[in-house]
Amino acid sequence: MGSTFTFDHDDPNNAFITICRQADYGDGPLSGIPVAVKDNISTAGIETTCGSKILKGYIPPYDGHAITLLRSAGAAIIGKTNMDEFGMGTTTENSAYGPTRNPADPTRAPGGSSGGSAAAVASGLVRMALGTDTGGSIRCPASFCGIVGLKPSYGRVSRYGLIAYANSLEQIGPLAQNVRDCALLYSVIAGYDPRDGTSLELPPPAPLKPEIAGKRIGVPTEFFGEGVDLDVASVVRSGISRLEDLGAEIIPCSMPSMRYALAAYYVTSMSEASSNLGRYDGVRYGTAPDSFRSWHDAYSQIRKSGFGEEVRRRILLGSFALSAGYQGKYYAKAQAARRMVRDDFARLFRTVDMLAGPTMPCVAFRLGETSDPLSMYLADILTVPANLAGVPALSVPCGTAHNLPVGLQLIGKHYAEDEILSAALAFE
Ligand code: GLN
Repeated sequence: MGSTFTFDHDDPNNAFITICRQADYGDGPLSGIPVAVKDNISTAGIETTCGSKILKGYIPPYDGHAITLLRSAGAAIIGKTNMDEFGMGTTTENSAYGPTRNPADPTRAPGGSSGGSAAAVASGLVRMALGTDTGGSIRCPASFCGIVGLKPSYGRVSRYGLIAYANSLEQIGPLAQNVRDCALLYSVIAGYDPRDGTSLELPPPAPLKPEIAGKRIGVPTEFFGEGVDLDVASVVRSGISRLEDLGAEIIPCSMPSMRYALAAYYVTSMSEASSNLGRYDGVRYGTAPDSFRSWHDAYSQIRKSGFGEEVRRRILLGSFALSAGYQGKYYAKAQAARRMVRDDFARLFRTVDMLAGPTMPCVAFRLGETSDPLSMYLADILTVPANLAGVPALSVPCGTAHNLPVGLQLIGKHYAEDEILSAALAFE
């Protein structure tokens, strides 16, 4: 059975890069539900830009695996959402298509890099959306916009058709207005896909059990360390008390590898990005300039005019980190630090069922507030550990600070998405 969904809303927050006014849909668990998709996930016949000028006009000939699953679940795909170029950013201001505004306060950024998806959900334009999370890009905008967002375990959701930024870290995941919708969309996109070599054969997601009594929840001191806004910290601590009131056991603990997590994340992600973005050369992707003196000249012209400043910065730093003579100094060290993070999680999960803390150290930034890249990178400190270890993590709204939404982060054991989603029901 085929029907057509008509989308006739305006987009006052610039949440979308492309809007599909008419979207076909079929039967299934998502039948007729409007869903928005981040613009780095390939959609057959719908322009897919990754928020970059270099991919303007690119129309993928095939659907990513998550899109195939969305369509067969009956969803109406009503557009592609704004994002930091190639996922590189924390505000959605690094988009070639203008910034997105935060529906909770339009003078603020929605967070990033899946800021368009979060804004589309938070403003009620769609019930749910897909984002991607390489180092926090689902959880950060969920936190800043006051919605729920889940980064699944690495290997849970196929990355087939996801245009790569840092492939060893990223996953596609759901953003939704509430925990049950988030779990519903997650259950649709999770599953094995032979076209992604890192996809895993796992039992299907289980139904949620709103039962938190007896769960052991670890709270690492480092999650409330230096740089965490005091009002944000106190709202999150009240959220954790709520879990305790419902019968969970709160266990203070420590995660010493946190001090290396940001450096490990940025060296790894920039190194992978420098390699993944090599394909935008004006031949395979991107448009070659009309006139050029040599191939080097053409290559540098296309990349200089096609990529934004942050993307070029990361390609340069990543190429440097991987260059001969420096690999041992940077990349190998980052991998060693990554192992320390993974080992810390493994140690903690021997005694606790999940970890809790703030998703972000602060509330949504003002638009234009942060032009300094280093201070921007620091804001990712609480989200990157889960990506380095490949464990699932979500952000659920737990209150407000400075009149803006605050997200509480729950981090689970590998493949225990159901457990953290169930615990998040405490906040509904
Ligand atoms: N803010 C982080 C970065 O800029 C995370 C991005 C992401 O998860 N895509 O890399």
